Amino acid sequence: MNNPPCSSPAPTVDAAARVPCAPPRAVSRAVPRAPLRAPPATAARAGRSSRLALAACVGLTALSGCGASVATVRAGDLTVRTLTLNYNNVHVVQRGAHTVVVDAGLQGDAAELDAAMRAEGIDPAKVGAVIVTHGHADHAGGARWFKQRYGTKIIAGSGDQPLLRSGRNDKLCSTGTLASWQEDQHQHATYTPVEADVWVGTSQELAPVAGLAGRVEALPGHTQGSLVVLVGQLAFVGDLFRGGLVGSSAVRHLYMCDLAANGRDLTELLARWPQATTFFTGHFGPVARDEVVALAARLRAEFPKASPKQTLPPKPAVPLPPRAE
Ligand SMILES: [Zn+2]
Repeated sequence: MNNPPCSSPAPTVDAAARVPCAPPRAVSRAVPRAPLRAPPATAARAGRSSRLALAACVGLTALSGCGASVATVRAGDLTVRTLTLNYNNVHVVQRGAHTVVVDAGLQGDAAELDAAMRAEGIDPAKVGAVIVTHGHADHAGGARWFKQRYGTKIIAGSGDQPLLRSGRNDKLCSTGTLASWQEDQHQHATYTPVEADVWVGTSQELAPVAGLAGRVEALPGHTQGSLVVLVGQLAFVGDLFRGGLVGSSAVRHLYMCDLAANGRDLTELLARWPQATTFFTGHFGPVARDEVVALAARLRAEFPKASPKQTLPPKPAVPLPPRAE
């Protein structure tokens, strides 16, 4: 593991709640408390029973959907609450009076997300900005809720303008059987288009636009406009990779069109942010740095001939097939 230059203590999970598999969700339902989830550094030592319970919950989610869950990580003066709805993580990052939200989940989950935030004592009206790590429906779909109701600033990557302005995904490329089963459904997930207030081309300081000190930087790969958010020792990476289903491992994402380039992007991520110790992903996670290093090595070994990085024009959103009446 690369030791970070920062002397702050490693992030720890202070409290976590995961709602057991439940009947269809009520919009106004508060997020109940449930058994603790292990922090990244100790997840590998988590009890076998809790891991099996999580796996069972995830498996059943495919059939019925699990309710909102929340896991809280404290790192120095930062608090991160990860609210998860339908596999999709929304990270609420707070330092003192300043709050930003990284990703906004599906449009259809926005009301429940709002209620879950309030249940955690977070006032959605006081969020300085919603940062959309990329324009896929399960990350950008809920952003419009905040903009419309609270006038919240939306920050997104300029490479994903075609996605946010159409409310449609670009071409997804499944990386395994599980994804291929669901690819058609995920490909055609849509949301009401939303316009960002700040389009990030290469880099953006957060403090002037959202109050909270940090940086947003472009790291195209999963989409052309993918962003990474860095706050202190914490990095929020969207779908650059995902957390493992069990434990704290880093796993290639279900959809990635160029896995060779993905290995190179992970290496670049680690080099650009040597201070980052914990990586918050769009799905599952969070992930400790060692695990990201290991995934980057696995991808480089599997795909040793990554093509040189190119600056590509934004990929178009995929047209929708005609709807059956
Ligand atoms: Zn995605």
